[in-house]
Amino acid sequence: MRRWLVLVPLALLAAPLTAEEPARKNVLLITADTLRAQAVEDTYTPHLDHLAAEGVRFDRAYTPITTTLPAHASIFTSLYPRDHRAYSNVSRLSSKVTTLAEVLDGLGWETACHINMPWLNPDASNVPQGFRTIRRGDRIRKADKTNPWVIDFLAKEHEDPWLLWVHYVDNHTPYHAPGSYDDMYTSEQKNELADVWRYFPPDHQESEHMISWLDGVEYAEEVIDDYHGSATWIDAHVGQIVWELKRTGQWDDTLVVFTSDHGESMGEHDLWFVHAGLFEQTTRVPLIVRDPGGPAGVEVDTVVSTIDVMPTVLNRLSAPTPDGVRGADLWQVLDADGGGVAYLEHTGRQLTGVVTERWKYIRHDKTNRIYSGYPMNAGTLELYDLSADPDELVNLAAEMPDRVAELEALMTRLEAGERGFEELTYEVDEDMREALRAMGYVE
Ligand SMILES: [Zn+2]
Repeated sequence: MRRWLVLVPLALLAAPLTAEEPARKNVLLITADTLRAQAVEDTYTPHLDHLAAEGVRFDRAYTPITTTLPAHASIFTSLYPRDHRAYSNVSRLSSKVTTLAEVLDGLGWETACHINMPWLNPDASNVPQGFRTIRRGDRIRKADKTNPWVIDFLAKEHEDPWLLWVHYVDNHTPYHAPGSYDDMYTSEQKNELADVWRYFPPDHQESEHMISWLDGVEYAEEVIDDYHGSATWIDAHVGQIVWELKRTGQWDDTLVVFTSDHGESMGEHDLWFVHAGLFEQTTRVPLIVRDPGGPAGVEVDTVVSTIDVMPTVLNRLSAPTPDGVRGADLWQVLDADGGGVAYLEHTGRQLTGVVTERWKYIRHDKTNRIYSGYPMNAGTLELYDLSADPDELVNLAAEMPDRVAELEALMTRLEAGERGFEELTYEVDEDMREALRAMGYVE
């Protein structure tokens, strides 16, 4: 089995500086917030299937962290949170990091983005560093309010190739699948909402936003059905964008990446409607990369990470990748026979983990009891054999100390060479605080 990511020094995986002229392709990056990989697999998503049929679908792609702001920071910098140090939704990314947008802006690309959360705005998180045109995030704008702006952008004449980042939020709480999408899915299982309410974090139990969202809901599965309907709704909006690219004759010149910043737990491990923990539901995300003229209809089951997006995009454009990135060009795993690994962290540095082809290892670094169904206790270790136990139900840590030691050593190797940018926060004003509350975030 090839250990392509473990044994090859990471610096060698970055594209060498080259005198080659970059390929003047457009880049469309879509991040569908809170959309877990399983939701795409379990629902009707014909447009994403079409995209995958023209590109590469990575079935085991992981986010390095399960919180929006740091996860997006990692996508745009190819750094782990322990490197860029933007660890939460009130962090500010250091201006000293180099982002994908900055690299392409420097090469003459037009850069534009549509953000849908205020904490991703440049004056808050600084995540869009390098984007020149920014449609700022406000209070929960939905995909149908986002696409008109995107379609206007695509319909314009562009002298230069462009990088466009589209951020959707429709799979984030409060889920509301609009119109007929609301009735698309009906779960057979029925858990009374009143019975699972006690598993919500205390601030969610008392939140007027949560209470008004869930008012009148009898079964928790009605909420899950809404989440699934939102996945199909997002798929339809991706289809609209692809259609516009084709209509305007840009499809053959546009590299497309579709992914998410993290998943969501739908009651697994007694975590309800939150992206807490490092289980598959919250860490495994959809990832499709379509390069015009590149591989088509390829499905890859090697473990990869969303930190690989930046080097992959830059390599497809024959553009130089900045020194010190942590990710690798995903095209290198197209022929790999397993051997991938992804490093995982939890917001607030509460958990650290690693996932390999077979194993998931999670170490609790802090104690936090806000999730009553999944209390975090410093010193607790979790080890799961994903090949035999994909639902991560049987913790083998106590009976397999050698495996635990091996995975600890692997984590230490992945942590080596930490970049350590300055750790910053932005000032949270009352508007921002209210926006954070509305999406279920703790004070
Ligand atoms: Zn998010």
